[in-house]
Parts: sequence; C-alpha cells; structure tokens
Amino acid sequence: MTHRLLLIEDEDHIRTMLRLLFEDEGFIVDEAPTGEEGIQSFETNHPDVVILDLRLPGMRGFDVLRAVRRTNENPIVILSAQTDSHDIVAGLEAGADDYVTKPFVARELIARVRTALRHSHAAASEEGATMTFEGLEVRPSEGLVSSDGVEIRLTRTEFQLLCFFARNAGQVLSRDQLLESVWGYDYFGDSRIVDAHIRRLRAKIEADPKNPIRIVTLRGLGYRFERSAEGLVFPPA
Ligand code: CA
Repeated sequence: MTHRLLLIEDEDHIRTMLRLLFEDEGFIVDEAPTGEEGIQSFETNHPDVVILDLRLPGMRGFDVLRAVRRTNENPIVILSAQTDSHDIVAGLEAGADDYVTKPFVARELIARVRTALRHSHAAASEEGATMTFEGLEVRPSEGLVSSDGVEIRLTRTEFQLLCFFARNAGQVLSRDQLLESVWGYDYFGDSRIVDAHIRRLRAKIEADPKNPIRIVTLRGLGYRFERSAEGLVFPPA
C-alpha cells in the first residue's frame, strides 16, 4: 500500500532530503515550504500522514496543526529543535501524534512515521466487541467512540490509546507500557507523549477533565482506566 506524505518545512535542503528519503521508502511525497501552502496541499491531496516543522515563516506550525486537526484525524509528526522542550509539549497538546527533534536521524524519522501510520490502520482494523463504560461506548471495529450516544472525535492515536485502556480496564498501566503498546517505543521512552495524549483524551471523554474519573493518575505508577466510576455523572448536569 502506497502512503501519501505531506512535508511542511521551510528549509529547502531538509525538505529535499526528506522527499528523497521517503520516496525511497515508497511514499508519494507532497512538499510545502509554508504553513499556508501546507494547508492548501492538505486539502487538495489528502495525505495519510504529515511531517510538520513547527518553526515556519508566516503561519506558525502550531496554527497549521490546529487547522488540520479541526477536520482530520490522520497522524501528524512534528519536527522541533532539540532544545525546544516547550515546543514539543505544546505541539503534542495541539494534537500531534509524535515528534522528532532536529537534527534527526533519518532512520528514526522513518520509524516514527511508520508507527504513526500503523495507528491509522490499527484503528481501521481493530477487532473486538463494543465495550461500554457507564455511557462511554468504544466500538473498536467501527473506530467509533460515543458518550451517551453522542459521537466523540478522536485522532487515530487517541483512539488506539483508548482501545488499549478499555481492553485493560481496571489495570494499572505504566507510561512505559503505554508507550510500548501504543507507540511502539521500545528503545527510549518519553512520558510527555503519553501525558499529552492522556490530557487530550480526558478533555474529550471526562465530564470534568481536571478531576478525571475515567482515566485516573496513580502517582509514580501510571494510569488506570476505570471499569466503572463511583458517582459518575456524564454528561455533567
Ligand atoms: Ca523551520
């Protein structure tokens, strides 16, 4: 299966290098040197995955990210300067699935993109019966989540994370376990990816994201998806 990749990057030599790299891997590659052109290309070409440089002239990478996320759930991998921890967290909060820091190792970027794409396919081919948790319905085979009958839009990665939680409801899951199971990180771990995705999931499935009762934090241990939540009222009155 051929994947279509959109590269939004203002530095010509990086863009060219990435295009050659991914074409070599069998991708169809579209390029955009600015955020504005990136969004245009996105709407015309419907890429399966986007690599987005956060530091762009004109429209900021974050705004491109948000604009794309408003209508699309496909994976977005951000490129960020190594020193910019704030950028990485902000990018993840804004809806990115993963990140790679500059200067990057080509092999690693390809691996990140392939993993992100696996989420798309996993989401499209998840199996298993519908799981219901007090009004929250997870339908793996259809890629659907609803709360009291109202559909909730999740990114592919958020969906995969929620399915993993739902299948392991009631169990304590460490950040490393989540990284390994959902992102396939077995060589290094970055809990910021997990934490940002949990915050995004909570914002979508919790009645009160600041006081979560579906996905609870267990200090020093990780997270637990509750089978049933005491006193759960959803949606809030
Ligand atoms: Ca740049």
